[in-house]
Amino acid sequence: MNLSEERLEHLADKLRLPDVPALVPALAQQAAEREWSFADFAEALLQAQSDAADVRATDTIQRLAGFPVRKALADFDFSFQPSVNKKQVTELASCAFVERAENVVLLGPPGVGKTHLAIALGAEAAKRRMQVKFTTAARLVASLSEARSAGTFSRRLQRFVRPRLLIIDEVGFLPLDAGEASLLFEVVCRRYERGSIVLTSNKSYGEWGEVFSGDTVIATAILDRLLHHSTTISIKGESYRLKDKKKAGIITTPTG
Ligand code: ADP
Ligand code: MG
Repeated sequence: MNLSEERLEHLADKLRLPDVPALVPALAQQAAEREWSFADFAEALLQAQSDAADVRATDTIQRLAGFPVRKALADFDFSFQPSVNKKQVTELASCAFVERAENVVLLGPPGVGKTHLAIALGAEAAKRRMQVKFTTAARLVASLSEARSAGTFSRRLQRFVRPRLLIIDEVGFLPLDAGEASLLFEVVCRRYERGSIVLTSNKSYGEWGEVFSGDTVIATAILDRLLHHSTTISIKGESYRLKDKKKAGIITTPTG
């Protein structure tokens, strides 16, 4: 059998195996050197094509997710943050919680790794080809209120409802007024039992009334749906950002 380059390209294109033409020469050489059977070669080629497609799909999802930076679970130093249970986080990284449309809430003071863990979980979901969207509470409400004024609210809402996993970072950083709180409520409601949310906050649940400018009714309504099927990770401890400065003696007093 002699497959011409041109014919191979045509078939690869038709079958949507875009990496096959580039993979064949190197794998064919390996096959000759290692005396692979035809079946071995076929398997190696299809596996390589499948791996390349996975990498590309993950990359695309990560790009569309809008992560502010790339963070991986492998780079999280669990020994620095003993209040984070490695086993629990590893279990979450399997993304079974996304399959079950459950939520994860990461609470803690600044610098303890909430955003890092949220992005890392998002990256795990992307690896499994689940659609992910990263936003902050401030950007989410700004985007929805702008769309409301422009008369494109329903379409914009889909942006936050459709992804399998929505990451809402920094809830509580800025207080939300009643109108803004109702926008967040709308998103949480629409995703309830249908799509996962990973949310981070520097405020404990008891302080959520303040986040919603004293409106404990809406705070309770949001928390009620958010927490029904959820895992909370409360991170207590030192800011990772300040650890080296503390070590150097630049900062001596504990910061919140
Ligand atoms: P938070 O969102 O809680 O304010 P971040 O997740 O932004 O904190 O973390 C601040 C910085 O410190 C980031 O660069 C993050 O990658 C890093 N970081 C935080 N905790 C850890 C950790 N335990 N191991 C490794 N890097 C960490
Ligand atoms: Mg953060």
